[in-house]
Amino acid sequence: MVERQLRARGITDERVLASMLLVPRHEFVPEELRDQAYEDHPLAIGENQTISQPYMVAVMTQELQLKPSDVVLEIGTGSGYQAAVLSRLASAVYTIERHQSLAFIAHTTLREVGYRNVIVICSDGSGGLPDKAPFDGIIVTAGAPEIPHALLDQLGEGGRLVIPVGEKMLQVCKRITKHGGRFETQDVTGCVFVPLIGKFGWEI
Ligand code: SAH
Repeated sequence: MVERQLRARGITDERVLASMLLVPRHEFVPEELRDQAYEDHPLAIGENQTISQPYMVAVMTQELQLKPSDVVLEIGTGSGYQAAVLSRLASAVYTIERHQSLAFIAHTTLREVGYRNVIVICSDGSGGLPDKAPFDGIIVTAGAPEIPHALLDQLGEGGRLVIPVGEKMLQVCKRITKHGGRFETQDVTGCVFVPLIGKFGWEI
């Protein structure tokens, strides 16, 4: 997976590649789909949601440019796989999931596999987690109709927000960096994520 799907397609950050080599992706996939865990596509995890394609996880993680001391917020825990990849690159990861069943499974898997610096929270994360702000990185792994302003407010100086923005079935992944109170936006790649549903996302 790492050599053929990630390095061969231009993922160059060695820390990201090393993290994805070490996280056991099959542990985050429902048992009946485990034989496909390292294939080049998303997989169903229940509640009509998916664990993202490995390449998409790598691209977004690379864009976050994490340092070991960073504190990160993920919105859209899903299986917990992305949170596990982040946990090897940052000091603490807060991750929010709106489906209780998914949040519970992700929490259990993360504990069992031993990622103790990840905190799973079950709620609408579209407005971020103001109590724990500021964050060095915020990653949204669901597609938003527009960039929720609350997330920009929760970035620390130099902080990065990586978020898919656009239509329900097709988005552009953007990276927004906060410099001296100003925001610099870059388009990263086209992508297809399940919708971000909530107060600052799509209506159910
Ligand atoms: N990062 C995940 C995949 C994300 S799928 C992984 O590694 O497996 C997107 C997830 O975002 C879904 O589980 C969906 O339920 C969740 N989601 C959608 N809107 C949300 C919101 N407002 N707050 C929290 N989670 C949300």
